[in-house]
Amino acid sequence: MVSTNAFSDSQESELIDEETYKDIENTFGGTLPLPENISEFDVPEQKYDISQPDLSTIEEKISIGEKGLRRKLQMEEEEEYFLTQLYPSLNDYSNQLNFQYSFGDGGGQDWVYSQSLKKVFIKMEKTLPLRFSWEPSTSGLFLRTELAFVLEQYKSDPVKRCHNHIALTNPVNQNMNPDRIKHVVHCVNHASSMYQEENEHLSILTPLCKPEAGSQYVPMCFKFFCKNSCTSGMNRRPTELIFTLENNNGQILARRTLLVRVCSCPKRDKQKEETELEPIPVKRKLVLPPAKKMPSSSDMLVYKVELNIVGKENYLSVYKHAYDVMAGQAARTGMHEFFKPYMDDILHNMP
Ligand SMILES: [Zn+2]
Repeated sequence: MVSTNAFSDSQESELIDEETYKDIENTFGGTLPLPENISEFDVPEQKYDISQPDLSTIEEKISIGEKGLRRKLQMEEEEEYFLTQLYPSLNDYSNQLNFQYSFGDGGGQDWVYSQSLKKVFIKMEKTLPLRFSWEPSTSGLFLRTELAFVLEQYKSDPVKRCHNHIALTNPVNQNMNPDRIKHVVHCVNHASSMYQEENEHLSILTPLCKPEAGSQYVPMCFKFFCKNSCTSGMNRRPTELIFTLENNNGQILARRTLLVRVCSCPKRDKQKEETELEPIPVKRKLVLPPAKKMPSSSDMLVYKVELNIVGKENYLSVYKHAYDVMAGQAARTGMHEFFKPYMDDILHNMP
């Protein structure tokens, strides 16, 4: 709850300045009774909490009860957890450095960003232009870029190129620096980038210079040399780029993530995943008319009744009742054709 202090210190001192005080003394004479300790006028927050209670919570308690409220809060927590799972970038923190990235120009057929998925779809060996900024934009910092699996159960697995793409016979590897061959992601515009490996986890460490004069950001271009669908590599597991801003001691100052899918058809895959994300409309329960209650086959037999009834009224009411029960069952079962001749028979035989 936000504590509300009615007056800030500076405002408080302006409430009655010395001159006004003297004016009042002169007008009314004598001396104004001032408490010995003026701080008694200070309203202790904890004693007199004049902030508004959270009425919405109280109203909810009344309307849905404590149990309902607890369930609601639990659902909100679950929703938050779900969102965090869906968009790991919600976990990003940028500290005071306001570490940010944005997309450079381009895209077209090579790459596309999905706003709803917070995910970039890119073709292999095409350039992803990003722009990094931080404040204050001092030099001496490093950007570490690592491609990692998103799902919790694979997070500890290193992301490496598949057998096909890593093969030395692959033309793209011919002129590739050997220390980069295992890496799926390469930084292509900073020659000073260092390709590192720690416990099989691969990352690129790039020394960051201050943005050039007149520029607010440092451009970084990345290329990917394996696809998410490669069976012996990423094997259809979703991945994200993790960018960390580090000082020269390797201390992480800030972090950002970007979901990435390396594929053959960025636009198609984007559309497909966006469709999958759309909430499935809740199917309306089809309201069928109540099922017709059919008489069991043993109840379809025809019985002939011969009775001796005392009194004409009673005699007629037996006919009437026999007609009514069959008419009722005909209506309930829809078997009008079956009952009709027996009902007609009663009408003909009625005196
Ligand atoms: Zn591959």
